[in-house]
Amino acid sequence: MQRYKSIGNFVQQNNKFAPICLLLTMSKEKKQTRISEIGEFGLIDRLTGGITIRNESTVKGVGDDAAVMEYPGKCIVMSTDLLTEGIHFNLMYVPLRHLGYKSVIVNLSDIYAMNAHPKQITVSIAISNKFSVEAVEEIYAGINLACEKYGIDLVGGDTTSSLTGLTICVSVIGEAEKEKLVYRSGAHVGDLLYVSGDLGGAYMGLQLLERENEVFKIDQNMQPRLQGYDYILGRQLKPEARADIVDKFEKMGIKPTSMIDISDGLSSEILHLCKKSGVGCRLFEEKVPMDDQTKMLASEMNINPLVAALNGGEDYELLFTLSSEDSGKVKNDPDFTCLGEITNDAVGAVLVTAAGSQIPLTAQGWNHGDTDRFSN
Ligand SMILES: [Mg+2]
Repeated sequence: MQRYKSIGNFVQQNNKFAPICLLLTMSKEKKQTRISEIGEFGLIDRLTGGITIRNESTVKGVGDDAAVMEYPGKCIVMSTDLLTEGIHFNLMYVPLRHLGYKSVIVNLSDIYAMNAHPKQITVSIAISNKFSVEAVEEIYAGINLACEKYGIDLVGGDTTSSLTGLTICVSVIGEAEKEKLVYRSGAHVGDLLYVSGDLGGAYMGLQLLERENEVFKIDQNMQPRLQGYDYILGRQLKPEARADIVDKFEKMGIKPTSMIDISDGLSSEILHLCKKSGVGCRLFEEKVPMDDQTKMLASEMNINPLVAALNGGEDYELLFTLSSEDSGKVKNDPDFTCLGEITNDAVGAVLVTAAGSQIPLTAQGWNHGDTDRFSN
């Protein structure tokens, strides 16, 4: 079923990601148990047997009709994401453990984008009979790793059968003090626009995996040529959510005026911020941060890396605006790149090229077709 299998050292305690080309190795199938042999309840017992509760707000997790949470004096934030095989992921090159990990991360990212802290998740999956118990356990191994790393409790979910393919739905619950919440709608004229990390890497990582998958379809003896691109493959297969940036805001006494996470590409997210805030924006081409591997592969594949950053997606970085007072606090901080400035609505959202011309930004979220337009 799967071309690649991840090996044991998937996520190391020191936060380093082992080179992806080592992770993506062919492996012999271990014994596979049919789900019908142990039944749905047997499967749930196996998946939830070792759950650790990490948060005080989790009063009751798995094991009753509903989970119970308690957040005295806090606002509760909630988000959900549905991932479908063939639309959002391709199991030819996405290892199940990575898929489980990523399905949690994309949800956490939405909570951090509210300047809030995720605490609990529920996970529901629909699986066809081509998946064994061990395959489902691989997905949960990734889910549990994400929970461990980000201090999240898995408090419930559901499993059901599917006639074709795999669907995973993760919902996340988080908390924040009301006055700390940051919305898309708070950007003001004169604020500066910032992004964490770098952009376009996840998109280029996907292009590489797709390219090698096409080669494999023609010649199944070919080993994938992934060497030298560990970083961008990691960006695609094992993204992280920027909990560290939200913690940094807290430490530095910063509250962004608006914020969004980058799931559909920089252009699309800027347009969301501008529309919700009723402002325009000047984005400077030369400021868009990109990793060397992103540029290297883009050049090898004849793709403009700026297009990968603007219209690619799945970078899960935070895009936010700061008042001029807060901007002063992040000067020279390598975690933050100033990309542009918030302008009057009449200017619109424009890209200022290196040559100085201004091009209107357009939303071309690339990744999941038109079916994903309702997502956050
Ligand atoms: Mg979002």
